[in-house]
Amino acid sequence: MKYNITSAEAEEFINHEEIMETMAYAQHNKSNRALISELLHRASDAKGLTHREAALLLECDIPDLNIQIRELAKKIKQKIYGNRIVMFAPLYLSNYCVNGCTYCPYHAKNKTIGRRKLTQSEIKREVMALQDMGHKRLAIELGEHPTKNPLEYLLESIETIYGIHHKNGAIRRVNVNIAATTVENYRKLKDAGIGTYILFQETYHRPSYEELHPTGPKSDYAYHTTAMDRAMQGGIDDVGIGVLYGLNTYRYDFIGLLMHAEHLEATYGCGPHTISVPRICPADDIDTETFSNVVPDEVFEKIVAVLRIAVPYTGMIVSTRESQATRAKVLELGVSQLSGGSRTSVGGYEANDMPEENTEQFDVSDTRTLDQVVEWLIDLGYVPSFCTACYREGRTGDRFMALAKSGQIVNCCHPNALMTLKEYLEDYAAPSTKAKGERLIEKEMRTVYNDKIRQRAIDNLKAIANGERDFRF
Ligand code: SF4
Ligand code: SF4
Repeated sequence: MKYNITSAEAEEFINHEEIMETMAYAQHNKSNRALISELLHRASDAKGLTHREAALLLECDIPDLNIQIRELAKKIKQKIYGNRIVMFAPLYLSNYCVNGCTYCPYHAKNKTIGRRKLTQSEIKREVMALQDMGHKRLAIELGEHPTKNPLEYLLESIETIYGIHHKNGAIRRVNVNIAATTVENYRKLKDAGIGTYILFQETYHRPSYEELHPTGPKSDYAYHTTAMDRAMQGGIDDVGIGVLYGLNTYRYDFIGLLMHAEHLEATYGCGPHTISVPRICPADDIDTETFSNVVPDEVFEKIVAVLRIAVPYTGMIVSTRESQATRAKVLELGVSQLSGGSRTSVGGYEANDMPEENTEQFDVSDTRTLDQVVEWLIDLGYVPSFCTACYREGRTGDRFMALAKSGQIVNCCHPNALMTLKEYLEDYAAPSTKAKGERLIEKEMRTVYNDKIRQRAIDNLKAIANGERDFRF
């Protein structure tokens, strides 16, 4: 197999030999001050890096240059995303699954976990509970099961979710995380109005992948690895990728992930919309001690920093798997989206979790409520944003990337963040969060430099205070 970035074959665009050569190149040059300094200089224009260049930064063992890597990541994050953090929540619909993933408690052979699938009326109650927290953006999760979780069930559930308007609540963007499927099914998901299609590769290392996925349709490495190609052929232009750090050696998967992003960009003219950075963590029937590649905090932070430098315009997501302290660090270094108040069990929002029946996919480290997370972000100087404007204005795929790369997107993101935060403060915030949020909005409005946009935003903020909702740029 030869490396071919635009090939339709998984093992040509995620080419093992190319990954091994890249690792050797990074290892060989990890102390090469001149080369790494030159790379950092070039990366400072926020145009990104190749997988080879990024691998070298990740491997760099020169302490002062490692400090520069972190500083550059912070600079790029600030330049492109400012202090805005987009909020979302996962919604688990069903944990029936026919696959045998050895790291996930939903694997088919786990007999100790409670199995549950939400009915449409249960979904309504979950979504109302999420709306009452203030969420506007969801990521749907469900296991792969041809009869329990067919595509029709998912399509009906998406329609149900978009149709619920409880008090001032509305879910305005539904992202979907389902198993690899056909072009035809992706087209149906696109027609149902999904935002991002998310699918994690778990690991790009084929032998490890096959060992970790011994049974079920997911065991087909090539079919899984080419899922995003089919999604894009089906018209979905916002896709989200990720690996589960800790399953395999992080160096291999970091390079594979960037090669995947490069393949999508080279083949379809648009790279991934988001990259998630989950790390393996404890769960029912899963003992993390059996995984020998667990990624330490310091390496995890460096992965986030180098990803920020390598793919500046790709949103980066961290979940409540990570602790408050780790989340604070990676927010600074590159993460732009955060979940808050998450329940990783089926039916967990309405029931506020079910102690009597364990249905969680993983243990949540950050157990704070959404309002506590929002207040914490404000205290740290961030603007929590509930914005979903791009998808609803048709700014997806290469249209979104063109606007993002031109730098003009900030004229949308910033006022949208402030207006959606204002909605949150009016409808859901605790008094102390509201007071802090109002002060933040006032301060941030002074940094909206375009006169026309500022005036429109001021008018919209007043209208929101008077009960109107859903303004966007
Ligand atoms: Fe099923 Fe997904 Fe868990 Fe694998 S990771 S067992 S496919 S729910
Ligand atoms: Fe995201 Fe677009 Fe909103 Fe900016 S304007 S936060 S890119 S949805």
